[in-house]
Amino acid sequence: MRPLPLNLRDTYGHVRMAIYSAGLDVEIRSADHLPNGMMGCYSERTRTILIDRRLPYVAKRCTLVHELVHWSHGDDRCGLHEMRTRAETARLLISPTEYALAERMYDGNVWRIADELEVTSGIINDYRTLLHDRVAA
Ligand SMILES: [Zn+2]
Repeated sequence: MRPLPLNLRDTYGHVRMAIYSAGLDVEIRSADHLPNGMMGCYSERTRTILIDRRLPYVAKRCTLVHELVHWSHGDDRCGLHEMRTRAETARLLISPTEYALAERMYDGNVWRIADELEVTSGIINDYRTLLHDRVAA
């Protein structure tokens, strides 16, 4: 597994810059249109991550981290190991302390928690179902 020596809770722009400065063997490109409504994709053959340039900034950030997880595992394409990738992405993007605070502050409202933590509501749902609930159980 390739290490991810980056602060992945930083902004999309900063993470992209950090990837270049760290000299990671992966190229990030913006794409005008990805098939099947995909937000991003990764190709192990070309070591390239494509991100839909029309996405909101926060969604770009979450998509980039998701695709970096595929890169770190050398997954041949997105769609492989999707549950593992989503669980790891949520873990990398969300600090348990900040999550607990936001959940109390916003009474469990997924949209407001997502807004507070600057992630998509999908990431919050993944965090809840794939990590948080499992740990709490
Ligand atoms: Zn994926």
